[in-house]
Amino acid sequence: MPDETDARETSVAAARNYVIGGAFKAELARRVAVPSESPREDSGPDHRRYLTQEIAPDLEAMGFKTRILENPAAERLPVLFAERIEDDKLPTVLTYGHGDVLWGMGGDWQEGRDPFKLDEADGRLFGRGTVDNKGQHTINIAALRCVLEAKGRLGFNVKLMIEMGEESGSPGLKEVAETHRDLFSADVLIASDGPRTAVETPTIFLGARGGMGFHLIADERPGAYHSGNWGGLLVNPGIRLAHALATITDAKGRIALREWTPGEIPENVRNALSTISLEPDPSDPVSDPEWGEPGLVGPDQVFGWCNFEILAFTCGRPEAPVNAVPGCARATCQLRYVVGVETARILPALREHLDAHGFQDIKIEPMKRGFFTATRTDPNNEWVRLVTASIQETTGKAPAVLPNLGGSLPNEIFVETLGMPTVWVPHSHRACGQHAPDEHMLLSVAEEAAAIMAGIFHDIGERA
Ligand SMILES: [Zn+2]
Repeated sequence: MPDETDARETSVAAARNYVIGGAFKAELARRVAVPSESPREDSGPDHRRYLTQEIAPDLEAMGFKTRILENPAAERLPVLFAERIEDDKLPTVLTYGHGDVLWGMGGDWQEGRDPFKLDEADGRLFGRGTVDNKGQHTINIAALRCVLEAKGRLGFNVKLMIEMGEESGSPGLKEVAETHRDLFSADVLIASDGPRTAVETPTIFLGARGGMGFHLIADERPGAYHSGNWGGLLVNPGIRLAHALATITDAKGRIALREWTPGEIPENVRNALSTISLEPDPSDPVSDPEWGEPGLVGPDQVFGWCNFEILAFTCGRPEAPVNAVPGCARATCQLRYVVGVETARILPALREHLDAHGFQDIKIEPMKRGFFTATRTDPNNEWVRLVTASIQETTGKAPAVLPNLGGSLPNEIFVETLGMPTVWVPHSHRACGQHAPDEHMLLSVAEEAAAIMAGIFHDIGERA
């Protein structure tokens, strides 16, 4: 048996070679070629093919047992479960990926590229799913293989979940996790999705902000009435709703509801955020330092705090205004929130707030979709420290540690349903074209990511 340092170097070098030598490209090309678009109603056979013909054989060759779990919410969105148990006494790592993609948007890609045909150009691999998420879980599985080949064992147990519905809001995934709680039990989730904070900066994120969508409605009466004959006599719903909205934030977007913010950013989170710098993209809009919570800018504002947004706002018929007092006005709103805000209190607190300001007539209607719970693992958690040290050792760079993503993920399934800390190591970059034409993975990032993951999997086997 080689000594530990040799085995680590061998694993990391093999993982780099997996990308440099073209094996990653070949494997990813086959996976990108499966048009597993989850929003497409007839995509069921593609999802099953991806799991049973692409992922499962790869895992079985590494000694995993695999099985398909049926999804009670959507038969066409099955979930793959796989496990490789070395010893019940060893720690167990759960990993996750999603094999579905958004629409290919064929016809809109530069150079006439086919979204389902992997194409290499200028150090980039173009294709739908290259970063979101096929490329990311393909790298992680390959890194496990490199460690296994270098050491003959992992030194820990691995479980894996690949779902096929993430781009459609992960329908049924929570039920699958609840039904198979024992199957998925593990000490930690280590998985990859989303972008790094900057191309050259290895990144870890530990959860996701929550999101709560709802409509505010001023429904005064059916129909509109002539503003010359009735104006001044009838309540205008647009004015009522505008004033109600104006009580939720001040004119610079600062949230007025005490229960809608964490009160203060905890010190461990603030410390983690102080190391973050977001790489601006030339196409990014200019942010306003005066907007939002006073005193918070950049990462503190977007990762450490909450924001209220009006997504849409209508009164009467904007496309054809008439001289009338309209009957109804409505605003579609969203609160993005962090850990520290009690999810179950978000809408009741708004009701109390509106009532206290005399807006009993404004109705609150929760949105049926678009709801995520806020999650976060303590930046001082031992798994976070292990992964951080491992990345530093492999790359010589200190990773950026985000307490949570600004956006949302089905992370509550791991944190709340399955009850484990979550450590995400993203292999994408901010300008990757995810959810748009020209989605691509950078080969330089893929190589470093493969090395990082091999280092992490080696270190878990030796040090966890
Ligand atoms: Zn996506």
